[in-house]
Amino acid sequence: MREFIYLCCCLSFYFTYATQAQNFGYSGNGETRDDWKRMAKEDLNIALNLKPTIAVAKNVIMYLGDGMGASTVTAGRILKGQKQNKTGEESVLSFDKFPHVALSKTYNQDAQTADSAATATAFLCGVKANLGTIGLDGRARRNNCTSASQDTHVTSILDWSLAEGKSVGVVTNTRITHATPAALYAHVPERDWEGDSKLEPMVACRDIALQLIDDNIDIHVWLFAYDHMAYEIDRTDKEPSLAEMTEKAIRILRKNPKGYFLLVEGGRIDHGHHDSKPAKALHDLVAFDHAVAKGVEMTNEQDTLIVTTADHSHVFSIAGYPTRGNPIFGLVDDTKGGFLLAKDNKTFTTLVYGNGPGHNLTHSRQNLSNADTIENKEYISQSAVPLDSETHGGEDVSIFARGPMSHLFHGVHEQHYIAHVMAYASCVGDYKADKDCAKSQIKPIINGSSAARISFVMLVILCLLATV
Ligand SMILES: [Zn+2]
Repeated sequence: MREFIYLCCCLSFYFTYATQAQNFGYSGNGETRDDWKRMAKEDLNIALNLKPTIAVAKNVIMYLGDGMGASTVTAGRILKGQKQNKTGEESVLSFDKFPHVALSKTYNQDAQTADSAATATAFLCGVKANLGTIGLDGRARRNNCTSASQDTHVTSILDWSLAEGKSVGVVTNTRITHATPAALYAHVPERDWEGDSKLEPMVACRDIALQLIDDNIDIHVWLFAYDHMAYEIDRTDKEPSLAEMTEKAIRILRKNPKGYFLLVEGGRIDHGHHDSKPAKALHDLVAFDHAVAKGVEMTNEQDTLIVTTADHSHVFSIAGYPTRGNPIFGLVDDTKGGFLLAKDNKTFTTLVYGNGPGHNLTHSRQNLSNADTIENKEYISQSAVPLDSETHGGEDVSIFARGPMSHLFHGVHEQHYIAHVMAYASCVGDYKADKDCAKSQIKPIINGSSAARISFVMLVILCLLATV
């Protein structure tokens, strides 16, 4: 009898446990543990077979996502997936697949949190600079014309590439006189001196537009708008996409047998963030991703170095604990079909800013339960500190690289190092001599006849040794 009771207990425990276990499938997208292991092994296999591309970069394409910090890359990746009706987190951006990734320290010579003018001077001219200054070294002071004397001027990869007979092009959806493209060709202590309207009369400095025209710079520029181009989410057929402009640029530049340097800037990611409108910033990030994919498709990894990075980050957060696949522009859910409440008993969005225009000074925080944060592309995300314009963030940004010498991006680097790798890989500027650049790393290939000659000489030596 005791055995019978014992057996019944065991059976009831087994059935209870087994029934419960059957009730729980895999969560999320249903990936099994074997799926995760398989994915990791595929990734491991790619890493094990990774070899550096030791070659000269005939062409260099730099993709600059203005303000594209790590949180922007992640949120944009989720948006890309959700636009394809997927949960999004597992989605892959074109540059996620680049074999070499590093970090870039973005601070300026005189500033903890950077601006786009001094950072562009760093990654295009190879020296750190003061906030707000373009194409000048750390002796120049912002908004001070007399400090920007001739000997503070620094040259850029545009000058270095042109000197070696290469072509140079710029694709941007900002004004061509805006901070990032301007660092290729201008030397000015104030980024806002794009035209002469902000320059005091009789000041000895020339504005950025004047320098572009007067200096007769041999650069391919394609202009489609008087001012900044439209945000991707607002773009009509009247304007080409960043990917279409990139394609056009590569088709023209690749006619030069000596190669080219191309700067492609996704400049409006930054503007969307300053306005604290994540829909604008992140749809532009997805457009930027398409432009990178177009460059990858049109070039050869053996002769074209592609570097994708940002100038600086933003105070932009992906916050709370939303369920996987929760709409990226939506409210943080409570995983039970409702929304999580903050300490003020109000809902909140996943995407928030540390500071910016999304802080209401006169009223308490808006209850978002009836707000359209998903479809309203003009929705301004909430922020902790009230400012007219949201600010840049000071943390490191990522560098993604593929192609010749891309393995030189391998750890935590100062931002100005980027210009040096691009110059080293393409043998221009300080690194133009064969012995000083990527060319010196290429091992001479022993062809068939010389290999036979070496074998014959070795055989003779062995015979001589044997006879001694
Ligand atoms: Zn900015």
